[in-house]
Amino acid sequence: MSTISDTRPLDRLADFPAIRDGWAYLDTAATAQKPIAVIDAIARGYDTTYATVHRGVYQRSADMTLAFEAGRKRVARFLNADETEVVFVRGATEAINLVAQCWAQEQLKPGDRILLSQLEHHSNIVPWQMAAEKTGAAIDVVPLTPDHRIDLDAMAAMITPAHKLVALGHVSNVLGSVLDAKRATEIAHSVGAKILLDGCQAVPRLPVDVAEIGCDFYVFSGHKLYGPTGIGVLWGRAELLAAMPPYQGGGSMIDRVTFAKTTYAPPPGRFEAGTPHIVGVLGLHAAIDYVDAIGLEAIHTHETELVAQTRAALRGINSVTLYGPEDAAGIVSFSIQGVHPHDIGTILDEGHVAIRAGHHCAQPLMDSLGIPATARASFGVYNGPQDIEALVRGIERVTRIFG
Ligand code: PMP
Repeated sequence: MSTISDTRPLDRLADFPAIRDGWAYLDTAATAQKPIAVIDAIARGYDTTYATVHRGVYQRSADMTLAFEAGRKRVARFLNADETEVVFVRGATEAINLVAQCWAQEQLKPGDRILLSQLEHHSNIVPWQMAAEKTGAAIDVVPLTPDHRIDLDAMAAMITPAHKLVALGHVSNVLGSVLDAKRATEIAHSVGAKILLDGCQAVPRLPVDVAEIGCDFYVFSGHKLYGPTGIGVLWGRAELLAAMPPYQGGGSMIDRVTFAKTTYAPPPGRFEAGTPHIVGVLGLHAAIDYVDAIGLEAIHTHETELVAQTRAALRGINSVTLYGPEDAAGIVSFSIQGVHPHDIGTILDEGHVAIRAGHHCAQPLMDSLGIPATARASFGVYNGPQDIEALVRGIERVTRIFG
């Protein structure tokens, strides 16, 4: 095992104006900081090129439409999908609600079942509970292995033909556990169930290829991928999207409107009512270019090394309990005996170390771990050994203060 100071950071800190001041930003799982390339793309979008999309007869609008649709093509290439299968939404939360409303509420009936896992984010639980309530379907929960992964053997043993939908996190936002997405998909498909993967924490940390995985829906938020807030992606298989009714009614999602009857545009337009987050798409495009230029393999290697070194350093502190598997992607959750995670976060903040403390929108996971909250450090391309050193110094201070 190498030491903290051996870690070769990606050296990207200079690209991120908000954290150049020596702040150890360890809350990327909540939201990533923005590189200059993304900030510039957003500024340019509003500054010299701004116009609406899809409707304008003037050149500026036609140009913006091309730029907007280039963003869709870029997302498609990023996921190895077709651009007609890429729906722009506000974020992962809206993407999951869209599938829960337009697929699950349409397809499910009493007796049908939905399969989730114990570690899901609330946004991959609550929309399915709402769909289950409306349709009379029931929810089952795949347990975790002792090292805090979704237990795919247990999933294979418990899934039945009554399960019509499986929804799982590709990477846990609390534990960093990486799902074997291909195997989970095969298990879902073995009984004819569709599978949605929540890729919020995966797309900034791993190469994702939806064709290779074989899943049916894949969702993520732009702001966790170094892009802007307010823009996210629902990728869905063409035939599934084509069979789904619209999500919201309004402009842009129609084919022809009369008071007698309205017909709808084909996907993805059918699911994009109203003026979209035009500049958000430009920012997301720049963010994908940014991470692809570094390379997701390189980012994954970098973050895996930071996780290994953080875990090794924290393991040396007696009162610390670590959660999640050893090979977690970019995220380390921990607790300190006798100290509330909020107090850990507050004391670390005094040393300019930003972590997240709380239930991380995963209360059922906290219940299964038998704790109310954890402290969580999560990494991005700008983090390096200096951040781990600052974190460890802060934690040593916490243990001194609390005796
Ligand atoms: N799923 C996971 C795994 C997440 O980490 C998050 C954000 N914390 C979400 C879903 C929801 O994303 P958003 O709030 O951007 O819609």
